[in-house]
Amino acid sequence: MLFKSPRGTKDILPQESGNWQRIEEKARAVFSLFAYEEIRTPIIEESKLFSRSLGDLTDIVQKQMFLIKKETDTFVLRPEATASIVRSYVENTLYNVAGVSKFYYMGPMFRAERPQKGRLRQFHHIGCEAIGSYSPYLDSESVYLASKIISALGISGHDIIVNSLGCINDKKSFALNLREKLLVHKKSFCEDCQSRIAKNVFRVLDCKNRQCKDIVLSLNLGASRICGDCQKHFDQVKAGLDLFGVNYQVNPLLVRGLDYYTRTVFEITHKNLGSQDALGAGGRYDNLVEELGGPARGAVGFALGVERLLLARGESQVQEEQGSVLHCYIIPLGDEALKTCLKVLQLLRDNGIRSDLDYLDGSLKSRMGRADKNRTKFCLIIGDNELAKGTGILKNMSARTQEEVKLSEIVKKIGET
Ligand SMILES: [Zn+2]
Ligand SMILES: [Zn+2]
Repeated sequence: MLFKSPRGTKDILPQESGNWQRIEEKARAVFSLFAYEEIRTPIIEESKLFSRSLGDLTDIVQKQMFLIKKETDTFVLRPEATASIVRSYVENTLYNVAGVSKFYYMGPMFRAERPQKGRLRQFHHIGCEAIGSYSPYLDSESVYLASKIISALGISGHDIIVNSLGCINDKKSFALNLREKLLVHKKSFCEDCQSRIAKNVFRVLDCKNRQCKDIVLSLNLGASRICGDCQKHFDQVKAGLDLFGVNYQVNPLLVRGLDYYTRTVFEITHKNLGSQDALGAGGRYDNLVEELGGPARGAVGFALGVERLLLARGESQVQEEQGSVLHCYIIPLGDEALKTCLKVLQLLRDNGIRSDLDYLDGSLKSRMGRADKNRTKFCLIIGDNELAKGTGILKNMSARTQEEVKLSEIVKKIGET
């Protein structure tokens, strides 16, 4: 019987993992520049954590949680990391540490949605959270940081969209108002939206259905709907973005589907991705720390989808960066030579020279053929003749030349190139 990876999951094979590592390395470097430090939280959490933080009526909590029941406990494979990090921040009383706590993370997230193109059940996020300040300029910094990472990865052509949802009170009155306006057209909305109007009214603004979009646009929701304090906060966020030289657009219809967002929300889209998908998104969540049992602390963060970053980078770059060079591929001819070859292999590796040995049998030609010509610099062949002289035949794979070299000088010889 042949096994397959579960639906909606993907193996990251060696020819791809180099790209993943490079994305992670570059992101780490930028996070570090912005004074963020890594946090690693468990992949499983109590399921209540997410219903409490994301909201009972969100799609994620209602339809997409991977549940694990163990005796009387119910755990869930984390669908996102913000709630976990706030849980950890409160549990470890990190709010007692002076200043803003800045965390970054990377790793797999899980959502049990119906697998479709570009949507995986196990996908990967790189993200960050800054907890401990209400400063609008921290929001500007967060958006700027996201764009810095994206450009550090060589991605261009992305768009940054920002909006302010206002405080909890603004959200409440907007929801009431919106529901009233939408109910007038209830019958014209798609089936999903008809139930969203009652349960999660902001999500109607996200609907990709053409007809739903047109109704929403006709309602002119862009008019000011947040209080004076929130408007001032948003004006300062935008001033900060201008200061950092970030290109952005304001879209009053941008909402995020999760309950915890307040004030600033933002989304980064890219032309290489379908209309459904953003490279990443984030925003401010000023009530979540308190909601999860901590003191009142403002916070802002974002997450970028790694699979989407890879898509946006495009094929050309992927090929360019493929694989690492093997400096020496050793081919032993005969059992006696094999022992010497193993010692030479050890010596090369001890000297930091990336090497491997041909552990298979066959003709010399087929064994040479196993050395990947594009990625191998030298082949070193040792047979009985060479063994007697303490030498080996060193073939330069790209120059197609060969010479006999003393094994005592092999490190120097290969190390020089
Ligand atoms: Zn407000
Ligand atoms: Zn709809």
